[in-house]
Amino acid sequence: MKRRAQSGHKYIFVVGGVMSGVGKGIATASIGKLLTARGVSVNLVKIDPYLNVDAGTMNPIEHGEVFVLDSGLETDQDMGNYERFLERDLGGDDYMTSGMVYGSVIARERNLGYGGKCVETIPHVRDEVIERLRRAADVSNSDISVVEIGGTVGDFQNALYMDAARVIHLLSPHDVLFVMVSYLPVPGTLGEMKTKPTQNAVRLLNSYGVQPDIIIARAAHPLDRKRKEKLAISCNVHPAMIVSAPDVESIYDVPVNFERDKLSDILLESLGYEEKPEADLSVWKEFADKARNGGKRVKIGIVGKYFDTGDFVLSDAYISVIESIKFSAYAHDAKPEIHWLNAKTYEANPKAVAELEDYDGILVPGGFGETGIEGKIAAIKFARENKIPYFGLCYGMQLMTVEYARNVGGLKNAHTTEINPETPHPIIMILPEQVEKLAKKDYGGSMRLGAYPCDLVEGTIARKAYGKESISERHRHRYEVNPEYIERLSKAGLVFSGISPDRRLMEIAELPKKEHPFMLGTQFHPEMKARPLSPHPLFSAFIKAAIERKKKA
Ligand code: GLN
Repeated sequence: MKRRAQSGHKYIFVVGGVMSGVGKGIATASIGKLLTARGVSVNLVKIDPYLNVDAGTMNPIEHGEVFVLDSGLETDQDMGNYERFLERDLGGDDYMTSGMVYGSVIARERNLGYGGKCVETIPHVRDEVIERLRRAADVSNSDISVVEIGGTVGDFQNALYMDAARVIHLLSPHDVLFVMVSYLPVPGTLGEMKTKPTQNAVRLLNSYGVQPDIIIARAAHPLDRKRKEKLAISCNVHPAMIVSAPDVESIYDVPVNFERDKLSDILLESLGYEEKPEADLSVWKEFADKARNGGKRVKIGIVGKYFDTGDFVLSDAYISVIESIKFSAYAHDAKPEIHWLNAKTYEANPKAVAELEDYDGILVPGGFGETGIEGKIAAIKFARENKIPYFGLCYGMQLMTVEYARNVGGLKNAHTTEINPETPHPIIMILPEQVEKLAKKDYGGSMRLGAYPCDLVEGTIARKAYGKESISERHRHRYEVNPEYIERLSKAGLVFSGISPDRRLMEIAELPKKEHPFMLGTQFHPEMKARPLSPHPLFSAFIKAAIERKKKA
């Protein structure tokens, strides 16, 4: 590899020690938040070491939600946290998987791009990683890239990325920092916080030629002085560079907590920054206080299917939906009480939907396939007939349309062709023209992915909520409302309030306010654009309707 002149661009690599699931993603997002608050521009990069080219093919029960960027790239849910903490969109270059990295090296090799050389993981794949990191920095024009290396130190599969980070550091030592997010267990039998696993994790990191500059010590409790000193001596990290990160009630407290140990000062000073303005976190703190304390309760039922994995309920599959509900509830001084309602139960026993009467709002999120479908449709029917505020996201909009077609539009056995290709009334189907258009795009074959524009119809709930004529929202679906049924459904009373500029694609369906307090579905995924301090207008309209129902009860 060619030695480059020092670019001045800075990198902070965030690596995990001891075990996964201790909040490395939130730590990365919080570092980004703090640096931005100090007036430094950052881009946040997630490296996922698996061989999937993107997260689109992964099961949400196992891997959590697939988060789609404006560009259409299907990524890991950490990217959602990054965007929410930074309050801005990230680009497709800010995400990479081993599948992508190896894919481009192999494609280049097939195109004779290596001039007859033997192509190897080190240096060629490693250098591809470095190139990608540089490109992400260039495209975002940031001062600092905060890069989260997925997995834990010692994993076979992320060693390549540790080596890329090592080389970037070697070429420009003053521009690079390593932060290790580690875990200090308190075994029940001992009742004492143990530092040894972290000591060993640092030793493992050292074996890659990398020394952590900063340790973020995750634990159930704050780190005491004795343990801080022990960690400092054994890990070769100055005690001032060890940040205590005890469990917190809400992830939005994490940046504020980090600041107690002056993390942004440590980072900026270590990277050679002179005076930088103090971080003004007052608005964020106000929001974090609400997240902790909330206000009057509003009871929301999410009818879905990706909940059960053994004995665990995995809400990671719907994380953006949950956060979007929270942001809008906090903006209304309310605290959401979210209940998981398994659509399979309603399918087995449709009468069980009567329990929905107790809820202030019902939401059907996105989904694929047949499981629990009739259960979801039964829940939607109940919400419509009993005037319970309803919000349908993607599949939730398609099924709302199917329910309306069947039970109000008189279209018996109407369905989506995803479930019944033989239905006499294919209300939701794959549009051939869409397949053709999408095939030309890079991602996902026949999936409509990423940001698409949408025009809003005057006088509708959607138009009023957004307060503007046209919007851009993110998509991830294959099927669409069948244009041949639009006239019939409209005559039956369903209002298509959001439509693509070419008038072919129905993006929002709703019932007029005089018919129902809030019955609205979006073909897109609004949850991917909701941010803590700027909640999504449609979620806010839904929550407002739910609060009004509660008041009447
Ligand atoms: N299964 C539906 C489709 O492919 C909806 C997808 C979704 O909810 N994300 O169109």
